[in-house]
Amino acid sequence: MVASTVVTASAALGAAVPGPAAAKPGPQPPPKVPTATGYGGAVSSVDPDATAIGLDVLRRGGNAVDAAVAAAAALGVTEPYSAGIGGGGYFVHYDAATGTVETIDGRETAPAGITHDAFIDPATGKPYPFSPDLVTSGVSVGVPGTPATWETALERWGSLSLAEALRPAARLAQHGFVVDDTFALQTRENAERFRTFTSSTDLFLADGVPEPGTTFRNPDLARTYRQLGAQGVDWLYAGDLGAEVVRTVQDPPLSGATDLPVPTGSMTTDDLAAYRALVQAPTRVGYQGYEVTGMAPSSSGGTTVGESLNILEQTAPTGTVPTLHHYLEATALAFADRGRYVGDPAFVDVPTQDLLDDTFAEERACRLDPDAAAVKPVPAGDVTSYDGVCDAPAGTAQQDTDTENLSTTHLTTADRWGNVVAYTLTIEQTGGSGIVVPDRGFLLNNELTDFSTVYDPADPNRIEPGKRPRSSMSPTIVLKDGRPVLALGSPGGSTIITTVLQVLVNRLSLGMSLPDAVAAPRATQRNTARVSAEQAFVDAYGAALAAYGHAFTVAGPPGSSAAEIGAVAGVELGPDGRLTAVAEPTRRGGGSAGVVTPAP
Ligand code: GLU
Repeated sequence: MVASTVVTASAALGAAVPGPAAAKPGPQPPPKVPTATGYGGAVSSVDPDATAIGLDVLRRGGNAVDAAVAAAAALGVTEPYSAGIGGGGYFVHYDAATGTVETIDGRETAPAGITHDAFIDPATGKPYPFSPDLVTSGVSVGVPGTPATWETALERWGSLSLAEALRPAARLAQHGFVVDDTFALQTRENAERFRTFTSSTDLFLADGVPEPGTTFRNPDLARTYRQLGAQGVDWLYAGDLGAEVVRTVQDPPLSGATDLPVPTGSMTTDDLAAYRALVQAPTRVGYQGYEVTGMAPSSSGGTTVGESLNILEQTAPTGTVPTLHHYLEATALAFADRGRYVGDPAFVDVPTQDLLDDTFAEERACRLDPDAAAVKPVPAGDVTSYDGVCDAPAGTAQQDTDTENLSTTHLTTADRWGNVVAYTLTIEQTGGSGIVVPDRGFLLNNELTDFSTVYDPADPNRIEPGKRPRSSMSPTIVLKDGRPVLALGSPGGSTIITTVLQVLVNRLSLGMSLPDAVAAPRATQRNTARVSAEQAFVDAYGAALAAYGHAFTVAGPPGSSAAEIGAVAGVELGPDGRLTAVAEPTRRGGGSAGVVTPAP
């Protein structure tokens, strides 16, 4: 098997470098801009190839759903450590013909054979060290939901077949893409995990860590996409690809090159056959004359963004620093409620409507002191009894352990007919489980580590067979008078929620343009003693917010990807069909925004 070919930059430019790959000049990356304004359709993602593919689909008459699936498949090629057919995600769609927002929950499920102590090392009786030990495992692999999401979206709203939607990405995988700094860095950071498996070594480390500027090809994935298109998703959920996935989870192709424990998983073909992507209603809250729609559980994105907005609407701060204080306090309260109440609604009674109720928010807003930061963690509210009246605080605060990673990717599309998609997809950890399905060119997720590691029967996010682990993904579409005006989302584990919220606050409350709202420095308060913030945020607002009692930790080591919070991709829909596609100007190396017909 030759799964990847790495070509040097000089070969990509056609210089005389020995070796078979040097004969053909490699591809050039499409131009990359963070903001594009125009008409006829728009795509925003982290990656120029994915955005270009989405735009091409739109130009050829495809709609926003076709473009979203094609671009997502392209991200499976160029961002294989963040997303792909081995993972899951959440798809929010506005249908211009009916004026309705619907969503697809394409979250992975736990296999029927998973046990409550799946993440406990039998040798020690304690949880496996989270990373790299637990995440690099078969036991963390959930039943992939992404192929079912794509099929469901295309059948319901698309105009292309799955084969047509996957074709450009298959071509991209075949011809290759130009390695950028982020891809090289992420490969290097995961090299030990990939070296643990023969299949992953062959694909990502065949010639060592790929150098920026070289071309990375993945012919195995090209074949996989073609076959998936030809056979349909039953190839995974009821066919040979599924059998290969199951074999890989139960018996990962160990290389012997590392001593990671690699606990195996129990996934069977029955688990694959039982998988369903779920079409469901979005969450909805009113905010300052807008209607904000998002993902209902199993993601906590919609309820936590929505509850925070409701609290902010109650407290109605004005001015940048007071608004940021309220933003940080509102998310602490909403995260307390998320931890207490949100899990997979097929297994847990999730009080989604209470969490989004204005009267509940009124009562929660009683806990927000406009002049002082509360001591964290703050306790959860009581969804069984609220009347909006401020009374004595109840309950004890509980600190959630937060093991979500900073992987994942988001894309937003809009078409000439007014349809809009906000789609966040992931394989959880950067590099997922680290296990490539042999000869198939894609990584399996480690999404089940989003369950709480230690079983507690009172925890809504406890491990259970067949269950979806709670997510933070927050693809969001904002409507005004029933029509979409803004769609966005972000990667970033549980910081997804605060990132989406902060951009909404920047745009809708502080009056920033969308590019400024996305570029602005970020901070995230998830009910912890200290606020995690980008250095630029601390520089700009740290002193003023410290006066309220906020304490800060600068996110990540300087220069690392963890120093950045989120990577937003959004589209704003203006009057007269004017579209502004916006991606990150610098985070994760800068994203890529494009429109079908640029404004003059
Ligand atoms: N697994 C996370 C979630 O579902 C996303 C992972 C990430 O963004 O790093 O919320």
